Amino acid sequence: MSQDSEYSEGDLRNTGMSLKHDREWDYELDRIVEAVEERDATKVGLQFPEGLKRRGPRVADDIRELVPDDVTVMLSGQPCYGACDLDTFLMKRTDVFVHFGHSPMKNTDKVIYVPLFSNVDVFPIMEESLDELADPEDDPHVGLVTTAQHMNRFEEMKSWLDERGYEVHTRRGDDRLTHEGQVLGCNYASADIDADQVLYVGGGKFHPLGLAMEHPDKNVVIADPVNNVVTVADTEKFLKQRYASVHKAMDAEKWGVIFCTKIGQGRWEQAQEILDDNENAYLITMDEVTPDRLRNFDMDAFVNTGCPRITTDDGPQFHKPMLTPGEYEIAVGNKPLDELSFDTFHGTW
Ligand code: SF4
Repeated sequence: MSQDSEYSEGDLRNTGMSLKHDREWDYELDRIVEAVEERDATKVGLQFPEGLKRRGPRVADDIRELVPDDVTVMLSGQPCYGACDLDTFLMKRTDVFVHFGHSPMKNTDKVIYVPLFSNVDVFPIMEESLDELADPEDDPHVGLVTTAQHMNRFEEMKSWLDERGYEVHTRRGDDRLTHEGQVLGCNYASADIDADQVLYVGGGKFHPLGLAMEHPDKNVVIADPVNNVVTVADTEKFLKQRYASVHKAMDAEKWGVIFCTKIGQGRWEQAQEILDDNENAYLITMDEVTPDRLRNFDMDAFVNTGCPRITTDDGPQFHKPMLTPGEYEIAVGNKPLDELSFDTFHGTW
């Protein structure tokens, strides 16, 4: 299952980051220890995204050395793919709850977010990306977006492009996003800028693919400092896969409508609308949406109102077609096929 941590606003596993760069991160232990002291805490919960879970025990050791003996440090064993994916069970049962690897999706005192910024040098790959961007003399306008873990270099990236003659366009997306220029696997609102080309700096192809689907009129150049490659987003293969799934679901009678119970992944109204419209639709609630968990349901097709990446990345692994809510509308004939678009997610919780 892959979702939004590149590890960060998304998913490290997609990018190979954890494997290719064995980096030292700043776990901000001082901030955690300070919170333990201030709150007289006896229970500390730590949550890591999948790509960083193996580091958990060492961080727990370091914290244990710094806090009184009666403090219990717990590691969340739940899967975690994004800032949308807090372990609420652990959060409720601990005095200090720390979520590593993502920037906050919502301001709350209940969670200490430790974003773990990447220390990969982004400029060599940005230099290479200039070959794919228009010459600034022809078109100086370029949008710039990145993922949460490269956010610490965002201003430098802007200046870098600026020094090379570009006029850099950036914006902060909606309240699902913490920073200006930040994108999530389900939200590209920060690329709604006035430029025909966008430079995405970050690992993996999923984010820029979503970006290109959301903004078909823009040339999306991918500068991936993790895998050290520059590419241009190509949506064709992705679109073919999605059309194939929609076609398979067109004859479906019984629909399973998935409502995800993870704190930042639930779209209740969307699920409710489908149910209201289709008497052969059944609401299925779950936290992790996996092929195994759905196998025993006797459905012809599913529509996932939770994390869009489960549908698009892992769709082929489900035993029946798995569609996004927009694709469902096409499969049941409410919308034409050419309205197929990327499933984006707005709001927090
Ligand atoms: S819902 Fe969005 S932020 Fe959460 S894991 Fe999925 S793509 Fe990432």
